[in-house]
Amino acid sequence: MAKKKKRKEKKESKKTEKTKKKKQEKKTGKKVKKKKKQEKKTETKGKKEKKGKKTKKKIEELIILGSGCAGMTAAIYAARADLEPLLLAGPEKGGQLIWTTKVENYPGFPEGIDGTKLTELFRKQAERFGTKVIDDKAVSFEAKKTYFNIGTEKESFKAKAVIIATGARAKMLGLKSEQKYFGRGVSTCASCDAYFFKGKDVVVVGGGDSACTEALFMAKLDINVTIIHRRDKLRASKIMQERVFKNKKIEMIWDSVVEEVLGDGTMVTGVKIKNVKTGKTKKIKCAAMFLAIGHKPNTEIFKDKIKMDNKGFIIAEDTKTNIKGVFAAGDVQDPVYKQAVTAAGSGCKAALEAEGYLAESKQ
Ligand SMILES: Cc1cc2nc3c(=O)[nH]c(=O)nc-3n(C[C@H](O)[C@H](O)[C@H](O)COP(=O)(O)OP(=O)(O)OC[C@H]3O[C@@H](n4cnc5c(N)ncnc54)[C@H](O)[C@@H]3O)c2cc1C
Repeated sequence: MAKKKKRKEKKESKKTEKTKKKKQEKKTGKKVKKKKKQEKKTETKGKKEKKGKKTKKKIEELIILGSGCAGMTAAIYAARADLEPLLLAGPEKGGQLIWTTKVENYPGFPEGIDGTKLTELFRKQAERFGTKVIDDKAVSFEAKKTYFNIGTEKESFKAKAVIIATGARAKMLGLKSEQKYFGRGVSTCASCDAYFFKGKDVVVVGGGDSACTEALFMAKLDINVTIIHRRDKLRASKIMQERVFKNKKIEMIWDSVVEEVLGDGTMVTGVKIKNVKTGKTKKIKCAAMFLAIGHKPNTEIFKDKIKMDNKGFIIAEDTKTNIKGVFAAGDVQDPVYKQAVTAAGSGCKAALEAEGYLAESKQ
């Protein structure tokens, strides 16, 4: 009898357990369903918020384009003036100086400093005072009524003022060997690198004022210079031509182009040139090749929006462009000097100008 009772009790308890389980499952099922609904709700809310954020994006006080000497100096000054600048570093983080092993003419470094190291110090200093550096590149620029719109590959930014410090790129011949020996005898800047070739033979490629200036500068440093020019006369101003022709340390090779840079695997040892009229080739021994065939400023996105000269350099007076609130600093607005220290100097100017402009527009 007791056994029967026990079995009945067991059966009943199993039954209640089953119903409980079913109930539980039902409940959980519902809960899961509820959870899914909840998740969906949160997701849509998130999306809406994101959308909202995109349209309501903060208008920055100042956006700086470029992370070279000009951009970073502007950032240091603007950040110390509490403008909390946002800086887009661009495709070349640190700017042109990252391509050189030694900078010997930037004040404050009597032993010289590695180019990349110097750019890292600039960035550290700018970030220390609150510059937000974003490793992205501006692909569009638009002036709106009360702000500027800067589009990148990933997003877009708004700012009340903009400093353009996107630099300029020296034109190259396009030879493989030129790339191989860049910074190892191939140079685009005599005032930067000529000092390393004192007492040696070098070639200068070009025929304009820059080529003449570079040649004359090096001749003064006891360097034997050969100018290689693809035409039979120089494009340079008359006075420059006269100075070049009078200088005993400068020789001319006309109607010729460099076909190959020769080297020992480490440094330049010469160049192979071809006469464009006769087709004859010959080798010239030299320790360096200086290119002086022009620069191309990085200003494509500002074309027809900001005043430029015929080479694409932004025209700026004390860093002020023709658009109020837009300033330009460094090589991008400097067809003449193109030095680290002059770029840094104009970066400082641009930040001070931008600060003044922002303060004025608040009144
Ligand atoms: C090999 C070499 C050696 C040199 N050595 C010396 C030297 O010893 N001493 C000296 O005084 N000068 C030297 N120079 C020259 C010096 O590097 C330049 O004058 C100086 O870097 C110019 O600074 P910048 O800020 O104006 O431009 P850059 O240094 O050219 O910087 C331009 C910046 O703009 C960014 N940028 C470009 N496009 C965009 C975009 N669309 N959006 C956002 N950012 C963008 C780039 O990424 C880069 O960060 C040398 C140059 C070279 C190439």
